[in-house]
Parts: sequence; C-alpha cells; structure tokens
Amino acid sequence: MKRDADVIVVGGGAAGLLAAGRAAAAGSRVLLLEKNAETGRKLKMSGNGRCNITNIGDIRDFPAHYPGGGKFLHAAFHRLDNTALIDFFAALGVKTKVERGGRVFPVSDDAEEVVRALRRYAQAAGALTETERRVTRLAVAAGENTAARPRVFGVYVAGETAPRRSGAVIIATGGAAFPGTGATGDGYGLGKEVGHTVRTPLPALVPLRAVESWLAGVQGLSLRNVKAALWINGRKKQEEFGELLFTHFGLSGPIILTLSREAARALEEGAETEVRVNLKPALTAEQVARRLDRDLRQGGAKTLKGALEQLLPKRLIPVLIDLAALSPEQKAADLRREERRRLAALLQDLPLRLTGHLGFGAAVITAGGIDLTEVQPATMASKHADGLFWAGEVLDIDGVTGGYNLQAAFSTAFLAGEAAAAYSSDVIAPLSPSAACSSSTKRSKSL
Ligand SMILES: Cc1cc2nc3c(=O)[nH]c(=O)nc-3n(C[C@H](O)[C@H](O)[C@H](O)COP(=O)(O)OP(=O)(O)OC[C@H]3O[C@@H](n4cnc5c(N)ncnc54)[C@H](O)[C@@H]3O)c2cc1C
Repeated sequence: MKRDADVIVVGGGAAGLLAAGRAAAAGSRVLLLEKNAETGRKLKMSGNGRCNITNIGDIRDFPAHYPGGGKFLHAAFHRLDNTALIDFFAALGVKTKVERGGRVFPVSDDAEEVVRALRRYAQAAGALTETERRVTRLAVAAGENTAARPRVFGVYVAGETAPRRSGAVIIATGGAAFPGTGATGDGYGLGKEVGHTVRTPLPALVPLRAVESWLAGVQGLSLRNVKAALWINGRKKQEEFGELLFTHFGLSGPIILTLSREAARALEEGAETEVRVNLKPALTAEQVARRLDRDLRQGGAKTLKGALEQLLPKRLIPVLIDLAALSPEQKAADLRREERRRLAALLQDLPLRLTGHLGFGAAVITAGGIDLTEVQPATMASKHADGLFWAGEVLDIDGVTGGYNLQAAFSTAFLAGEAAAAYSSDVIAPLSPSAACSSSTKRSKSL
C-alpha cells in the first residue's frame, strides 16, 4: 500500500519542527501533523515571549541540570550540543546573545523569530505541514511472529477513517504543561498503545500554594539572595539560594520553581510539605543574634517595628513580630532574651506550610512521561515497537530553568529526525497492516 510519507512527525512544537526538518534534510518525505491551527504555539510564549533557546555553559555540565533524564541525554547532547544549536540558528539567520546565568536568547528578544526560523528550516528541507490534524491513534501491525515487536506504520487522524501511512513515526506531542498550547499529554496514550510505560506526569517549575494567612500582606514582595529549603515529613530535602516571590496564594520565583518538582511529588503523595525561608543566609545564627541585639539596642526607645527597619523589608516586619508572638508597639530595648531569640530564629527559618501547587495550567514543564529505559538514547527509537521514535518533552525528561528544556527538546529531535529517516529508508515498503514483510525497496541516502 502507498505511503503518505517516509516519516510522519506528530506535533509541531520545538521538537517536532526540528525533527521534521532534520528528517527531510536527510532525504525523507516528511509529513508534520499539528493539531493546532499553527505550529510552535508554546515556543512563541517561551522565555516570556523572548525564547531562552539554550544555555552557554559547558555541555559536559548540562546533565546535572536535569532533575529528570540528565544521564539519558548524553548521546543527544553529543550529536547536537549548545554551541551547535547556536550555530544552527545563526545559519537560519537568528542571531543570539547571552544573558545572566548563561541564558541564550535571540538578539531580537522575539520568540516568534525562532518559530519562523524553525518553520522555514522544515519547509526548505521539504517537510509538509498539515495543521488542525489531531492524531488519535497509532497504526500498528503485529510482528511477523509472536516474539517480534509490533511495527508502527502510520497514524490515525481525527475525522479520517484510513490511516496516514509512513515508514516511521516520530511522536513529539510535548508534555502536559500549559495545555492551552496544545500540550495535553496525547503522546502518553499513543505510547501506551504499544506497551510503553508512562511515568506519572506531574507539573514542575510551578508556583506553590501555602496556607499562611499573612501572605495577603506581602503579596508581590520579591526577595533576592535568600535561601528556601523544602522540608518533607520533617526532613530537609532540598535547598536553593536566589530570588523568591511572595504571592497571594503562596510562593513563586526562581528558587521556588526549582523546589517545586520535589514539592509537587510530595504533595501528591500526601506528605507534610513545608518551605522554610532563610532571610539572612549569609550570616551564622550567632551573627544574626548579634545583629538583632545591636539593632534593638540602637533602636532604644523606638518601637519594635521601627527598630527592625534596617533588617527586614517593611512589609515582612509585622509578619515576623506576629509569628514571634510580640507586639509591634512594644519598646525595642525592652525585649527579653527569649523574645529576641524567637525573633532571631524566625529570621533564618520562616516556615510556610504547602497545600498544593498551581497545576499543569501554570507549570513550565512536565516531570514524568515516557519511561526512558524503553527508548534507545542514541536514536530515540522505541524499544517496544519498530518504526516508532520519540522527541521532546513527552519523554520523562525535565530540566531546570535557563534554556535546558529547549536544548533537550532540540537535541532529542535532531537524533529522532535522522534516525527515523535512516530507518524509513531501510524498512521494507510498502507496508500493510497484515503483511509486515513483502518486498524490499531499500533506498540509500546520505544523512
Ligand atoms: C510559559 C513557558 C515558558 C517556557 N520558556 C522556556 C524557555 O525560555 N526556555 C526553555 O528551555 N524552555 C522553556 N519552556 C519549556 C519548553 O517550551 C518546552 O519544554 C518545549 O516547548 C517542549 O517542546 P516539545 O516540542 O516537546 O513540546 P511542545 O512545544 O509542547 O509541542 C508539542 C506540539 O504537539 C502538538 N500536539 C499535541 N498532541 C497532538 C496530537 N494528538 N496530534 C497532533 N499534534 C499534537 C501540540 O499542539 C504542540 O504544538 C517554557 C514552557 C512554558 C510553558
């Protein structure tokens, strides 16, 4: 039966666009199926509309920036590392610049420029894109004998009865974060059809909800150079240093997003989960006590709240005074030793009890996804079915902020694109669901 394409790519996000272009550049006839009316919707809003493409750091240090899947990515980074990605975009006319923390952005500060470049890359290489095509199922032929793996020979599209046939299929449907962009976890169901295990998808890089009523008074307050520690069932699990934001519902900001992966998992399991904020992480407990004593003494006749103004942001002063069971109007100099000790302790250990997170609707990334032990790291090929390849966030990979998630999407897509092209040029075609093998029509192509 006639093939519609050599390679079908499901999903036109960061990974799908690059995989489609790469497979087409390798000589395959490529069909990219995207369920939205346009490709690259999430990419357009990435990096606050500026698209943090990758990070300039040493590629050998990259794996450590993925709480999920770092080791698996070695081969993908070897094939397409951060500098090769920057060169790739430069060749497409996208000039880049490096910002704080090694973050790489387009000079234009415009994520749409990146999307346009990727579309151009795929189109110029000859890949065809069809939008408003939602893939609902894989087209799978049983293996020739009971021991053989099933073979994916295409996909079914919503509203169509016949499958779209191909030599290979790449699933690049993204995760489940920001579902409004099209990433609604469809790839997980497609993987399950051929026996893939899906590691429970959970939101990560997501703001956290806390129970404290005093948050209403400090919402919008952003603190730099603080430490936040995540405590689970009374044990410190993780600690981060940097910037934190108090919101009306709880906590956000870079260090909270970093803690959120473990926090979300613990909350899901019903564990007691807390964030403890150290407002003076550069000082030892003794130094904090001495500094507090000095400020209170110098405050003399001042009220307690007035005496604390050098030490704390104004809006946090009533919070700490209240938590220490003191009165804002009492005289600073009158504080007893035990009262000073309570206040000093809170300065380095301000507890917030977590009640939840903001969910996939507000998460930057999905932790969990297609089990990496079931995917070949050098080709992104499925170990469960022939002709099936994976790319991007649908895999159980999640990185911290800083450009790591897009680099993972692009690197896995590059591998998947060329491996699917090679596979589809080698498979026996045409393929029908009943007869997996009939005649050989090998074509040779240079990648
Ligand atoms: C607000 C926000 C900002 C971000 N900023 C950054 C950043 O600056 N730097 C960074 O490194 N990472 C960032 N990320 C993460 C990064 O954008 C993602 O990890 C990356 O886009 C994943 O690429 P992907 O191609 O795997 O998935 P996606 O980009 O989500 O693309 C998946 C595509 O598949 C389509 N699709 C899904 N199901 C089907 C189906 N059944 N049939 C057909 N098509 C389907 C979807 O419509 C979508 O177009 C950000 C994420 C968010 C939410």
